[in-house]
Amino acid sequence: MRESTIENYLVERVKAMGGEVRKVKWIGRHGAPDRLAMLPGKTLWVELKAPGEKAKPHQVREHERMRRMGQRVEIVDSCERVDEVLA
Ligand SMILES: [Mg+2]
Repeated sequence: MRESTIENYLVERVKAMGGEVRKVKWIGRHGAPDRLAMLPGKTLWVELKAPGEKAKPHQVREHERMRRMGQRVEIVDSCERVDEVLA
């Protein structure tokens, strides 16, 4: 399964739940998560990967910086994981 298939599923699910999804890119910095998912009472940053693929070291470093500031960052590499992180 391709990363884009999982990404499309995420977008569909968040919309179906009444939320908003945005594609994300930092200006002047690498490692931004792919998507910001906003739901009533819940906000999460999502890095999408093909099944079994891991975040790259520079992405991991950025995710850790964000988590230290209280942000929720999830690595999602399957449709099942999409359902899990949105539950
Ligand atoms: Mg990605």
